[in-house]
Amino acid sequence: MHSWDERTDLLAHSVLGYAVERLRLPKDTHWGARPATELEAVLDGMLSPGGVGGHEALRVFRDVLVPACRPMDDPMMLSYVPTAPTFAATLFDLVVSASSIFAGHWESGAGAIAAENQALAWLAELAGFPPGAGGCFVSGGSAANLSALVTGRHHAMERQERAGRPPRWAFAATSEVHASVKAAARVMDVDVLVVPADEHGRMTGASLSAACAADPATASGLFAVVASAGTTNVGALDDLAGIADVCAERQLWLHVDGAYGGAALCAPSARPKFAGIERSDSFSVDPHKWLFAPYDAGALVYREPSLAAAAHAQHGDYLDAIDRGEWNPADYGFHLSRRARGLPLWFSLVTHGTDAYRDAVETTLATAHAFADDVRSRPEHFELLLEPDLSVVLFRCRGWRDEDYRDWTRERARDGTTLIVPTRWEGETCYRVCVINPRTSVAALGGLLDDMAIGPLTARSRGTTR
Ligand SMILES: *Cc1c(COP(=O)(O)O)cnc(C)c1O
Repeated sequence: MHSWDERTDLLAHSVLGYAVERLRLPKDTHWGARPATELEAVLDGMLSPGGVGGHEALRVFRDVLVPACRPMDDPMMLSYVPTAPTFAATLFDLVVSASSIFAGHWESGAGAIAAENQALAWLAELAGFPPGAGGCFVSGGSAANLSALVTGRHHAMERQERAGRPPRWAFAATSEVHASVKAAARVMDVDVLVVPADEHGRMTGASLSAACAADPATASGLFAVVASAGTTNVGALDDLAGIADVCAERQLWLHVDGAYGGAALCAPSARPKFAGIERSDSFSVDPHKWLFAPYDAGALVYREPSLAAAAHAQHGDYLDAIDRGEWNPADYGFHLSRRARGLPLWFSLVTHGTDAYRDAVETTLATAHAFADDVRSRPEHFELLLEPDLSVVLFRCRGWRDEDYRDWTRERARDGTTLIVPTRWEGETCYRVCVINPRTSVAALGGLLDDMAIGPLTARSRGTTR
């Protein structure tokens, strides 16, 4: 297993050849989840004392297992937040795996960490953070939100050491905040002061202040505010500047969750919407969403990284025996061992240049806005529910019932056309389209509207004679 022999040589060619094929050839849009029993039947007996050999394992993966996974990078994958890694980024992910770099501490991973930090510095500068800002790459937005909030609470604890701690800690966020933020509250056992979102799905400084006034008991334990820079459901940006004012006044940690939307910092057309982010204490962006890196990578940046190290650095006799060096990503999140998962983004960024990133994000924004215009231009069939802040478009199909949305979604996923999952906005079912792939075309999106405009699928089958 640990010696390179002729069999390893053959397997290397097969695996790398397959990886290149996987990367180059479009995936089949019919691919998707299969029942566990079906997959278990195929896997049955593969794990054996003698092994089945790499080629057999690869065959099963290629023929059965990968086709049971949805192609998240397909240009017509328009649900959740999809992914669209560049070839350079994915190719370099193979290199990261091949390099066995422990990127928790500078002492062991300096070269990789220096490059990751260059990518983080680009993000920090886009956000208007001062020199000295920094952080690390974690698995994604969920890990970033939790790490940032733990830092914020630790900072509040140290400050309030003398004044005495509140009976319950709490942070504020809107009802539109991502599920991972509510999950972080459960993990930390803290309360959430829910700030009602306005009609655009946003939190403002005024609504934050009003929510504090309305619930003084919870507000007395407040240590942080989580603002969204692009909510997942509608792509709305909270009023970051107004929120920053309240945070400054009340000495609250401001974390900006930009897991989805933060990528648009590099698009000049969207940058003004982020005004105020430069005053936050931490922000996060998922490169695996809209910055064209493969899973999994979340970037977390702190204005004052030493505050994060105070909360997160792990100590132990075997860890403290050596000088760990200048920058230790392990200190900035709740992790120790980590792969250098920021390197695929770094490699692609330096390969293509930041202008290419600006252009790619602008392309997707333009596509989403053109799609919104298309929806608006067909008022007899559709209702655009919100002017898109970023690249999420919400619209209703006039006269459709909940089951009509469900049927169309199921049928167009089954026939491999697209995946668009309905969501809810202001209590009503609607469609949500999220564009992050520069290869998603305005014409193809218009084709989907043509299809929906014919009417619900059930009505169509009733109307036709067989
Ligand atoms: C996707 C998302 C998250 C969670 O990120 P993961 O990478 O899936 O952990 C958090 N916040 C927002 C706004 C998101 O869109």
